[in-house]
Amino acid sequence: MTKHKQGKRCTECGSVMRWETRPDEVRYHDRARTVALTAWWCAACGEAVLEGPEAMERDRVFQELRAEVDGVLSPAQVRAARESLRLSAAQAAKLLGGGAKAFYKYERGETPPSVAMSNLLRLLMRHPELLKELEAPARIIRARRTRPAARIAVARASVSRKPPGS
Ligand SMILES: [Zn+2]
Repeated sequence: MTKHKQGKRCTECGSVMRWETRPDEVRYHDRARTVALTAWWCAACGEAVLEGPEAMERDRVFQELRAEVDGVLSPAQVRAARESLRLSAAQAAKLLGGGAKAFYKYERGETPPSVAMSNLLRLLMRHPELLKELEAPARIIRARRTRPAARIAVARASVSRKPPGS
């Protein structure tokens, strides 16, 4: 027995809570999934208090259910796709979009990927050779963007050369 297996009172009704495993329903829209949830359970009102690892496990089940209902990839599926394409999280975001921290958020379950991003990853999983075609246009766009900025810098330099008060 570890320390937290001793008695605890329910914050809802004040009854004794027990550390045990009970079936619990995870819901998203009209879909539900039953999980075996180990937590502090109140014998009287059914309130449950989760601790770290159990809360994470329940959240993982929720993420998978949500991904299934919304037709997007789950955090684990995003990670598997990215790793099979041999991209770091930063490289994947740069190539595929979604913002600099996008893949960290998808894989930690903070933000679900869009349907578009999920479909793009699905296509790339089937045809990883297409990744090369995404890499090339990115370089062209970067090269074009540097030119107007250089012209602006020249224009500013010529203005500052005029003597004050002229
Ligand atoms: Zn209670």
